[in-house]
Amino acid sequence: MSNMRFKALEAAYNRPAVHVAAPSEKVTEYYGSYTFNDEVMKALLTPEAYLKVSSATKSGSSIDREVADEVAAAMKSWATSKGATHYTHWFQPLTGGTAEKHDAFFDISSSGKAIEKFKGSALVQQEPDASSFPSGGLRATFEARGYTGWDPSSPAFLMDNGAGGKTLCIPSVFISYTGEALDYKTPLLRALHKLDRAATAIMYYFDRNVSKVTATLGPEQEYFLVDKALYYARPDLMMAGRTVFGHSPARGQQLEDHYFGSIPPRVNAFMVDFEFEAWKLGIPVRTRHNEVAPGQFECAPTFEELNLSIDHNALLMDLMQKVAEKHNFKVLFHEKPFAGINGSGKHNNWSMMTDTGINLLAPSTKPKETLRFLTFLMNVVKAVHDHADLLRASIASAGNEYRLGANEAPPAIVSIFLGDELIRLLETLESRNEVQLEKGDNVFYKLGITRTPPLMRDNTDRNRTSPFAFTGNKFEYRAVGGSANSASTMIVLNTIVANQLQEFRKELEAKLEAGEKKELAVVDILKEYYRHSKRILFQGNGYSDNWVAEAAQRGLSNIASTPIALGKYMTPSSIEVFEKIGVLTEREVHARYEIELENYIKKVQIESRVVGDLALNHVVSTAVKYQHQLAQTAKSLVELGLVEEAEPLKDLIREISKHMVTIKQAVSDMTEARKKANGTEDITQKAILYGSEVKEYFEKIRYEVDKLELIIDDEDWPLVKYRELLFVK
Ligand code: ADP
Ligand code: MG
Repeated sequence: MSNMRFKALEAAYNRPAVHVAAPSEKVTEYYGSYTFNDEVMKALLTPEAYLKVSSATKSGSSIDREVADEVAAAMKSWATSKGATHYTHWFQPLTGGTAEKHDAFFDISSSGKAIEKFKGSALVQQEPDASSFPSGGLRATFEARGYTGWDPSSPAFLMDNGAGGKTLCIPSVFISYTGEALDYKTPLLRALHKLDRAATAIMYYFDRNVSKVTATLGPEQEYFLVDKALYYARPDLMMAGRTVFGHSPARGQQLEDHYFGSIPPRVNAFMVDFEFEAWKLGIPVRTRHNEVAPGQFECAPTFEELNLSIDHNALLMDLMQKVAEKHNFKVLFHEKPFAGINGSGKHNNWSMMTDTGINLLAPSTKPKETLRFLTFLMNVVKAVHDHADLLRASIASAGNEYRLGANEAPPAIVSIFLGDELIRLLETLESRNEVQLEKGDNVFYKLGITRTPPLMRDNTDRNRTSPFAFTGNKFEYRAVGGSANSASTMIVLNTIVANQLQEFRKELEAKLEAGEKKELAVVDILKEYYRHSKRILFQGNGYSDNWVAEAAQRGLSNIASTPIALGKYMTPSSIEVFEKIGVLTEREVHARYEIELENYIKKVQIESRVVGDLALNHVVSTAVKYQHQLAQTAKSLVELGLVEEAEPLKDLIREISKHMVTIKQAVSDMTEARKKANGTEDITQKAILYGSEVKEYFEKIRYEVDKLELIIDDEDWPLVKYRELLFVK
């Protein structure tokens, strides 16, 4: 059969699982062996240099040239002893993904001899020829070049380069020559530093032993696996990362038998393999299981310091793609690769941890600690309430637009789930008006904080439909897309919480100066925050239509469109909070906004072209052939005198014609809409046109194509079908 689909199916069916040779040592023996970690540094550096590097890691102090040279020398000898031939600054540009530019460790001297080179200067700073990375006009205005700079808080690591050698990767920031952020890491580090200062300052009122607060993150990664041959037979998956057509299979996820079912052997081999590789890189991948949709899986790491966790997630996504090649799979991180089937998110589990080991979002049975817990909890709630639109903007993307607001994903409304017990506790606090204290009074008792309820020890109390849910000792931001770099949303979350904690501190100090007792002052402020932010708290079913109506009544935003959501970066309150906390300047915010719009436009444009191309050159052309066959058959039947009119066949031919005509018209209208959008100067307007007038045709064309899939002979259908993509093991 010449049909590409069948060739692909032949290749994909019954592929054996690839054998994975397990390392002979225990995990603890090789865990982190590919990282230039603390232990290695301790062994290879002089005690002085080691101290300087660890303090730079912890407090962000700078590293002088001599130490940099020493670290570079140690890194090089460590890396080359493990087979590295090249090094690269590894960074996260705003296009998504990771970027690297490899330089060899050696140089050719004037006499033509290879000499080893890798100095502190090369470690600390590099000028990649990266002028094609998006900068939203920043570099064009200031200086043609950007440069990358070493982030010592994330350990350098080794990557197999596929040809037997390895590359030393140095986690780095990417900034313009004038110091403006061109990446995710730069503003993230700024935000984390400010959060630390603000939270530590609050801890002064609760526990003076604390000198540092670290944000923690555990991103759960959902993804689909598709056989490589089938992937290459779907131009839409290749070009756009999602299927633009495909009729739902007879059996979708309605049986829910895939979820937590046994993992197919081929998939299991892949998972085992990438886990080994992840462990070598010190990525603490912990759980693996099937997800709700057929062909969908998830892996979750143990949480880590936030900046490191984001590097690890970016690295893990890269690693998964590479390992998948070996197993003849393609990994899909797209938020909605298949219509009618669950999409993929990246649940961002987030909390704050002190250097004394206290999780600031963990409830306690001690009243005093409960007040501390409520303080941090309610500051997060108020921050999210006050900047809900900005938080929404931070997860807006072309891919996530297909997921948010669709049935199985959190809605595009930002709301917070706290659980009934916490709500009861907050209600109690709120109801204690005008508490008067007398000597000897137990202030906590008077306030209603006698004991903390056993908060959600039980998973059943969880609300899976909430986009931002308190899950016992952390918040879980579930609306983040599977393909996203979590930094985008974590920059925002940590900025707005840092800002809120600063505000809280000001309010508290004013009350204390006025002579109020500390506990009462704190509770007064928290009560006010609760009243103020109440409307964003929602404990019900976030997927219901009722909620959409109720949220509108409560005055909460429900922003389905990506360009509109991105516009929330540019509101005065968003710019103010970024500038005030010192995370992004107005120019940097603006640059980011434009880059995101450009990313969006490009993605929708590519999809639109794929839709047009597949519809005309694969589907309509197949339909024409099939129609011709039917016409021949009808003619023969009549000629042979078997039937008089061949009406049923003629009906079918007419139906096919109808679909084809609609498709052709819609594709041509869509092309016109694209032209109109392309002719629009203003980038905001252009993105809005792409999101409305161009995208509008996707569903329309899809509807007709999916109908044709049901009519046309299975043998002739050119595109790999959903049941084949999803159920081939
Ligand atoms: P679940 O019951 O949802 O599996 P887990 O406790 O296993 O809950 O956590 C899910 C994710 O949340 C994991 O990636 C985990 O590392 C992360 N997580 C747990 N505690 C924290 C925390 N304090 N800060 C950030 N992430 C956390
Ligand atoms: Mg989760």
